[in-house]
Amino acid sequence: MAGNWKMNLAPDAGAALLAQLLPLVADATGAVDVVVCPPYTSLSAAAAALQGSDVGLGAQNCHWEDSGAFTGEVAPGMLLTIGCQWVILGHSERRLFFGETDEGVNRRTKAALAAGLRPIVCIGETLEERDAERVKDVVLGQLDRGLQGLSSEQLASVSVAYEPVWAIGTGRTATPEQAQEVHGLIRGRLRQSFGDAAADGVRIQYGGSMKPDNAAELMRQIDIDGGLIGGASLKAADFAAIANAARDVAG
Ligand code: PEP
Repeated sequence: MAGNWKMNLAPDAGAALLAQLLPLVADATGAVDVVVCPPYTSLSAAAAALQGSDVGLGAQNCHWEDSGAFTGEVAPGMLLTIGCQWVILGHSERRLFFGETDEGVNRRTKAALAAGLRPIVCIGETLEERDAERVKDVVLGQLDRGLQGLSSEQLASVSVAYEPVWAIGTGRTATPEQAQEVHGLIRGRLRQSFGDAAADGVRIQYGGSMKPDNAAELMRQIDIDGGLIGGASLKAADFAAIANAARDVAG
């Protein structure tokens, strides 16, 4: 269960949220990986607030080079140094507003893995693509290109997040059946490309208006292994309720 804070919560506000969150998820972390992904400038404060807890830390993007003339970018190794274990890559807002491509996502994914970070690779169709019945082509195309060239061993460190763009921040969640259908397609393609063990082991997270009142039903779907939570991760009680729902389903 990863919380994507997006461009919210400056260092003090982030640390305050974590102080509320940690006791609420203390039980869940035994059964579920709980991760928060603050903006870059809040990572340090969040790492300090998370000391001694089982909640993980992730960033919202990284570059593919180790260092150099790439103004505004952050290298995977820098994130590792600051205490991150995870990094979100290819979020639809990065694709939509900042021109990120599948090829860029692939380079970032390989660089993150090489540095020792665990990438959460986001894929998902727009409403127009769904209405045009192109979900399978779009989502599996993003998956293939985003993970191209990875080994089955590397896939074990990757989490795939299926996030239908029309469900992000809209309050409009995919039904459990709609989400399961696409998660099943994703796992099937991973099975073809990487083999049974890798496909069975990989986590496929759902993202798109996941909330305390729909998390359990989504998590009960056979191919939904977790969530990527935007808006609801900004409220400690809501994010904790989602993590605890995942714990209950897992247990
Ligand atoms: C997200 O941005 O990854 C996301 C799923 O957002 P929200 O939960 O707000 O729809």
